[in-house]
Amino acid sequence: MATNTFAPTSVQATPDLPILGTSSHVAVIGAGAFGGWSALSLLRKGIKVTLIDAWGAGNSRSSSGDETRVIRSTYGANSFYFDMNVRALELWKEHEQRWNKKLFYNTGVLWLCYEEKTPIVDDSIPFAKRHSMEYEYLSKSDLQKKYPLVQTDDLHHGWLDSHGGYLKARESCQAVLEGFIAEGGTYIQAFVQPGQISSGSMQGVQLSNGTHLKADAYIFACGSWLGYLFPEVLGNVITCSKQEAYYFGVPRSQSRQYDAMPVWVDVDGQDFYYGIPGNANRGFKIGVDRRGAKFDPTDGERISDPAVLAHARAFIAHRFPGLKDAPLVESRVCPYENSPDGNFVLDKHPEAGNVVFLGGGSGHGFKHGPALGEHVAAVLGG
Ligand SMILES: Cc1cc2nc3c(=O)[nH]c(=O)nc-3n(C[C@H](O)[C@H](O)[C@H](O)COP(=O)(O)OP(=O)(O)OC[C@H]3O[C@@H](n4cnc5c(N)ncnc54)[C@H](O)[C@@H]3O)c2cc1C
Repeated sequence: MATNTFAPTSVQATPDLPILGTSSHVAVIGAGAFGGWSALSLLRKGIKVTLIDAWGAGNSRSSSGDETRVIRSTYGANSFYFDMNVRALELWKEHEQRWNKKLFYNTGVLWLCYEEKTPIVDDSIPFAKRHSMEYEYLSKSDLQKKYPLVQTDDLHHGWLDSHGGYLKARESCQAVLEGFIAEGGTYIQAFVQPGQISSGSMQGVQLSNGTHLKADAYIFACGSWLGYLFPEVLGNVITCSKQEAYYFGVPRSQSRQYDAMPVWVDVDGQDFYYGIPGNANRGFKIGVDRRGAKFDPTDGERISDPAVLAHARAFIAHRFPGLKDAPLVESRVCPYENSPDGNFVLDKHPEAGNVVFLGGGSGHGFKHGPALGEHVAAVLGG
C-alpha cells in the first residue's frame, strides 16, 4: 500500500477512470454537493445509481450543511474554475425552474480591494469579458456613496460582480436528492464502510443497516471523511479543518439596508473575511477563509473558539462600524475538506480500479456542484 504518498489527480486533468456503460450500477457514497449532483448527472446518463449518506443530504456535520454558500466566478487567473462556475450558474438557474424552488439569490458580489492591483479580481477580468459578465469598477467615493454601511478608509476601490450572489446550501442538497429520487435513483441512509480490495477491485461495501452492497463502481464523495475512510491512501491528503461562520443581528432600524447589501469579500491578503448579508433571514453572516484547527467531522463538538470569534468581531467592527455591538444570533462550525493544493480531486484508488475519490472542495466547492457533477458523468459515463 502506498502509505500517504498518493498524489491525487485534480479534476482539471482528465484522469484514467473506469468507464461506466448504461448497464452498470454505481454506488455514490455521500449526498453533499459533490456526491448528490454527480449521482443525479450519472443517473441522467442512463446508469443505475444508488446514493448513500450516513446522516442525510445537507446534514449539519457535512460541509454542504450550512444555510448559504457564496457563488462567484472570480478565481484570479484560473480560467478552469471561472468557466466551471459559469456553467454551474446556468445549471443552478435551470434547476431552480425545474424544481420550482428558489436556490440562487443574485445579490451580486462586492470585492473590497486594498491595493490598486488586486490579482484575484484583476486577472479574472478577461474571462468576465469573454463570458459577457463584466464587473463594475467602484472608486473609493463610489463605494462610499453606494455602500454607506462599509468603512472605506483603508480601501483603494471595489469591484462589483453583478452576476454572483449566494445559494441556499442545505436546502439545495435536499432538492438534489428529491430530484434524484423523482428521476428514478435509489437512496439509502446508512454509514458505508469500504469493503475488501482484491484482484484490483473493491468487493462491495458494508452498510450500517447490516447489508452488503455490490456495484460495478464506487464513488466516494465523502467530503471531510475521505481521509478517515481511507487513512492509508488519503489520511494526509484530504485533511479536515474547523471553520466557523457567525450570524450577527443587525440594528432593528437598518435591517433592510443591511439585507440589501451584496455578498462581499474583503481582499486583505491574509484572512479573507467574506459575508452574506441577509443570509436567508438568519443574520448578517461572516466567515473567514483562513484554515482553522484540525477537526474530526464525526465527533468534533461544534462550539466556536472564543479567540476566532473575537477576531471576527474586531474585523466586523472595523469594516461595518454600525455592527460594533451587534449580538451574535447564531454561529456554525463547519468542516473544510482540504486537498493539498486547494484543487478538487477526481481520481481512482491506487489499488482498486473500481473505486473513485471525489472531493477536496477546500472551502470553495459548493457552488460548482452541478457543473462538477456533469463533468464527473461525462468522464465516467463515457
Ligand atoms: C464555513 C464554510 C464556508 C464555505 N463557503 C463556501 C462558499 O461560500 N462557496 C462555495 O462554493 N463553497 C464554500 N465552502 C465549501 C463547500 O461547502 C464544500 O466544498 C462542499 O460543500 C463540499 O461538498 P462535499 O459533497 O464534497 O462534502 P460534504 O458536503 O461534507 O458531503 C459529504 C457527505 O458524505 C457523507 N458521508 C461521509 N462519510 C460517509 C460514509 N462513510 N458513509 C455514508 N455517507 C458518508 C456525509 O454525511 C456528507 O453528507 C465552504 C465550506 C465551509 C465549511
